[in-house]
Amino acid sequence: VIAIRDLHKSYGSLEVLKGVDIEARRGDVVSLIGSSGSGKSTLLRCANLLEDSQQGEVLFKGEAVTWKGTGHSRRPSDAKQVLRIRTNLSMVFQQFNLWSHLTILQNVMEAPVTVMRRAPSEVEPRARDYLAKVGIGDKCDVYPAQLSGGQQQRAAIARALCMEPEAILFDEPTSALDPELEQEVVRVIKALAEEGRTMIIVTHDMKMAREVSNHVVFLHQGLIEEEGPPETLFGNPQSERLRGFLTSTQ
Ligand code: ATP
Ligand code: MG
Repeated sequence: VIAIRDLHKSYGSLEVLKGVDIEARRGDVVSLIGSSGSGKSTLLRCANLLEDSQQGEVLFKGEAVTWKGTGHSRRPSDAKQVLRIRTNLSMVFQQFNLWSHLTILQNVMEAPVTVMRRAPSEVEPRARDYLAKVGIGDKCDVYPAQLSGGQQQRAAIARALCMEPEAILFDEPTSALDPELEQEVVRVIKALAEEGRTMIIVTHDMKMAREVSNHVVFLHQGLIEEEGPPETLFGNPQSERLRGFLTSTQ
């Protein structure tokens, strides 16, 4: 569904991604792990074209993003293509990012209605179904501030699902949550994995990475240091840095 080839990304003179390849085929759940500052969020944002990158390719369902300019002035050249890719790769952030002035149902319906221009009457039943699916079907008419963190994050996941995306990109979906609320969200992500959703998940939760993903990528200072199936990566890590990282997160 999504592939990134030899991606380079700098902020000014700071080179954050130094030639990264990552791919999620249909039904893949790829976890992205690595220390703070290794470039995980940047990589997700580049995949979703929320950030420009200076070199390398981003492919969505085999279709390469077209660029204009080079180096720091490189930008996607086709706005329709960007919109198509962005609406097909929904992001879920650490800080939920729900609209505080909209009800939970309105939050979930917002993008399909305003960005994708779907009829509200068509979107509403779907939005209610997704809210029920993540276990907060009774919270449609309340505002985000009235929900717990775990419930807000599940609302954010329902919002991502309501876009009917090809893949969902999670950036530390459980990091802002207390341990017991974290489990509610992990359960939802596990259920999505079991139904074959394509997902890329940046996480500090090694247990979740081990349980839900079929491929794990360890990023270190903007390069992939090691990758493989979770059993190998966690069970028999090869690189010294990965071993050190795993020890530090236990
Ligand atoms: P964390 O686990 O803390 O979320 P991360 O792996 O997601 O870390 P990134 O957020 O991708 O790391 O950041 C990688 C590097 O890029 C860091 O050194 C960070 O300071 C830098 N960086 C990120 N965003 C920007 C920005 N908008 N402008 C300048 N530098 C940035
Ligand atoms: Mg990050």
